Amino acid sequence: MFSQIFAYSNLHLLCDRGDVFSGEAPVSALPRLLSILANREGLVKYKLIFDKDRDHRCYIKNSVKAELNLTCQRCLEVFQYQVDINTLICPVTGMQEAESLPEPYEPLLLSAETRLRLADLIEDELILAVPDVPKHADVNCAAQLSALRGCAARGLQQETPVSERQNPFAVLAKLKSDQ
Ligand SMILES: [Zn+2]
Repeated sequence: MFSQIFAYSNLHLLCDRGDVFSGEAPVSALPRLLSILANREGLVKYKLIFDKDRDHRCYIKNSVKAELNLTCQRCLEVFQYQVDINTLICPVTGMQEAESLPEPYEPLLLSAETRLRLADLIEDELILAVPDVPKHADVNCAAQLSALRGCAARGLQQETPVSERQNPFAVLAKLKSDQ
């Protein structure tokens, strides 16, 4: 049940128990993410593994996959953006603890309160994965293609006198008239 990820959970308890949460959630259930998407369509697949390492450090292995609908800022059409994120998160209570974390942990700054919504962890990762200025790849973007066609047309116009000079049929015609 994906509703579990929307409840507040005690992080240390989840890590002690080695809990695993996996499933799918609609993007429409993640309001902060939804505000930067083109529409309400799409699913997010997640897997959150809670555990402790050899140093008894709590960590969360967060895997998130989604196909997000974004608006291309060049041609304003909707396109799909694949997201596949894997992070290893370690909860910390201060900047000093965050700086002393070994690789490849990413700090998750929490106050003394260690309760959190797992949906927030998933949503934060997705928001970070969305580009500041979403754009089609050049080959798929209508605006980019018409700009390229415009350049090609201008190029042809400039080339015309040259291609006329080198036209073999023009040379043939001249030979015929000389005979
Ligand atoms: Zn585009």
